[in-house]
Amino acid sequence: MNEPIDLRSDTVTRPTDAMRAAMAAAPVGDSQYGEDPSTNELQERCARLLGKEAALWLPSGTMANQVALRVLARPGDEVVTSREAHAGWHETGGAAANAGVQLVEVGQRGLFTAEDFEAAIKPRGLPVFPPTTLVEIENTHNRGGGVVFPQEEAVRICALARERGMASFLDGARLWNAALASGRSEAELAAPFDLVAVAFSKGLGAPGGSLLAGSRALINAADRHRRMLGGAMRQTGIYAAAALHGLDHHRARLADDHRHARLLAEALAGSPAVLIDLATVQTNIVVFHLAPDAPDAATLVARARQRGVLLNAFAARTVRAVTHLDVSADQVQRAAATLRELLG
Ligand SMILES: *Cc1c(COP(=O)(O)O)cnc(C)c1O
Repeated sequence: MNEPIDLRSDTVTRPTDAMRAAMAAAPVGDSQYGEDPSTNELQERCARLLGKEAALWLPSGTMANQVALRVLARPGDEVVTSREAHAGWHETGGAAANAGVQLVEVGQRGLFTAEDFEAAIKPRGLPVFPPTTLVEIENTHNRGGGVVFPQEEAVRICALARERGMASFLDGARLWNAALASGRSEAELAAPFDLVAVAFSKGLGAPGGSLLAGSRALINAADRHRRMLGGAMRQTGIYAAAALHGLDHHRARLADDHRHARLLAEALAGSPAVLIDLATVQTNIVVFHLAPDAPDAATLVARARQRGVLLNAFAARTVRAVTHLDVSADQVQRAAATLRELLG
């Protein structure tokens, strides 16, 4: 049987031969002593790329988010996020357990406005209310279907945060996709925020690793919290080399993933069993819903698996498909045909 067409996530990619060669050849040292040349190169390069003073490599995006929350908020604080933010839905309660914060979701489908944010800010000076001290934006938004956060709105939201003495954080696990889709640089997208997280293990195809970027003072604080959470590692240059390779060779090709997601979404939109807003298909993620008389998400995912197409059930009638380095246009077309057939 052919290998399955794996559309569960862009994290399922395996390092290419060229990426493995770069990893094998990477100069390494003990990164806890600041002596890993490949990690240092990655951090310096990403700080420049993101327009920030300093950057810190971390083993995962979840840890990057947890560290950011610990650096920018205190236990008992309230953090305003988008609906269904990764920090609230995919980190198994880490925001509460590791940073002691409570999340308040605002807006629609991963996006919100400065007015939505302002309305959610708890008044200060009354002892009953938790202080709202941080706003977090996710760009692109995973559960929102890979939508790009409108930059004018991000600028307004971060300006309001600053005016009110609050911090701002950008979960940019897929900022590379947002930059490509919006035609704005990563530095421009990150500019309004105090801290930004990016991932190397999604569209860039590395086997792991994320990074936080911000001012030197915030990155020094992040370094301490990374250690406290057990994320200070040693010869991380093996991972950094994979990330550098991904930046050099897999960033521009994200355009292919975006085109493939569009192909899939348009094919699915032709089925009466599928409810999908094509306007949300802006990058490499396709989130679609199943009509009331169609099979539910678990059933469709199980049937698709038998036919060699892997997807994720996101809710009872919601399914996610993600395009990436390891799926071709031909495979995406075959996956679309299989799904159309299964949906009748
Ligand atoms: C994947 C993801 C993360 C977490 O990254 P991991 O490396 O899987 O822990 C954080 N935020 C968003 C938006 C993501 O999609």
